[in-house]
Amino acid sequence: MALFVQKYGGTSVGSIERINAVADRIIHTVQQGHQVVVVVSAMSGETNRLINLAHQVAPDSASSASRELDVLMSSGEQVSASLLSIALVSRGFSAISLLADQVGIRTTSAFGKARIVSIQADILREHLQHGRIVIAAGFQGRDEENNITTLGRGGTDTSAVAIAAAINADECQIFTDVEGVYTTDPRLEPNAKLLKTIAFEEMIELASLGAKVLQKRSVELAGRFNVKLRVLSSFIPFNKDTSDQGTLITYEESELEELLISGIAATKDEAMISFSNVSVDFFSGADVLSLLSDKSIEVDMINQSLDSKLDNKEIDFAFTVGLDDFKATMSLLRQYVEKNENICSESMQGSETVAKISVVGIGMRTHAGVASKVLSTLAKEHIPVLLISTSEIKISVLIDQRYTELGVRALHNAFELHM
Ligand code: ASP
Ligand code: MG
Repeated sequence: MALFVQKYGGTSVGSIERINAVADRIIHTVQQGHQVVVVVSAMSGETNRLINLAHQVAPDSASSASRELDVLMSSGEQVSASLLSIALVSRGFSAISLLADQVGIRTTSAFGKARIVSIQADILREHLQHGRIVIAAGFQGRDEENNITTLGRGGTDTSAVAIAAAINADECQIFTDVEGVYTTDPRLEPNAKLLKTIAFEEMIELASLGAKVLQKRSVELAGRFNVKLRVLSSFIPFNKDTSDQGTLITYEESELEELLISGIAATKDEAMISFSNVSVDFFSGADVLSLLSDKSIEVDMINQSLDSKLDNKEIDFAFTVGLDDFKATMSLLRQYVEKNENICSESMQGSETVAKISVVGIGMRTHAGVASKVLSTLAKEHIPVLLISTSEIKISVLIDQRYTELGVRALHNAFELHM
């Protein structure tokens, strides 16, 4: 007998038909002798619908996080949790839906992006001991002042992992509408392959690179508590054992296939700003970056090159920020350039039409030559590389957006990920 936390996302509970199908799947798990705590998202589209209602009442209210918006948004999960529980009870099973407060999920007070501080595991355990299937509403919590909070979009993943950690579950199963984690986005590369396993560090990288399958915070949390995570589809028949379905995110190197590269991610959510041929006497990359950090604007890739052959030392300086921060960044830097009469305004340029492709794999730690393969592959396709950044297990290149698909496919092929 195992103890599973099963998370069902919005599309998995997106209709009455789907809720009934999920109920059947849960019953199947229970009938195999397992204990289950279920964590649900709102029915698909519901959270957006609620935000839109707030927008209609007061246009500004929906764009900034607030206490009331969290009260509103959290209601979606209450509906799906209760409906699922009703479905289970009507089939003769003992089930109970619980809101965050009833499970003792305490969070910080950061509305719209609260962090879980603690969970009262004994409440959950007691229900399990009574043979009940617990259906917990995801995405929500309570702060110290008893306000309802939410954990950020996609936060039900994090609720599930936190509950799994609190009750020491054998596995946290994230049911979604895709079969698991793929070597790359199948919409970009139809030959993308489903990964049976992926290392936890690789998953962290892929989640931060915009692979939408898991909220990044949930993966970080899983890592902190060594929660075994599996991503799998709620749409495929459930006559099979789940232990060979989907993708297992693992901490044990022995469970991994020996792959140099596990995945390739592409994101268009960044923008590039570059300064070219600016004199070191008047320009400082540090000043530019601190202007941005003062406004909490995060910088991702950075490159600086110095042409020291010239008497008048000049540098090229380029970096990326999140697309959302692009406008604010440009206006800050325009002011900086205006104030600085020795930097001409043409030396600064911004581009929103870039894409970052990242090749991720823990195999890189022990194998050389990945960077050269990335660059030579892109060169063969005549794709200019604008910026490069690397970490121990990742190489990212910034390119023009129109080459995204071509670049992903070429790299997928070069690293033989379809095999
Ligand atoms: N319902 C929330 C959202 O749409 C939380 C979740 O689905 O994980 O973001
Ligand atoms: Mg999700």
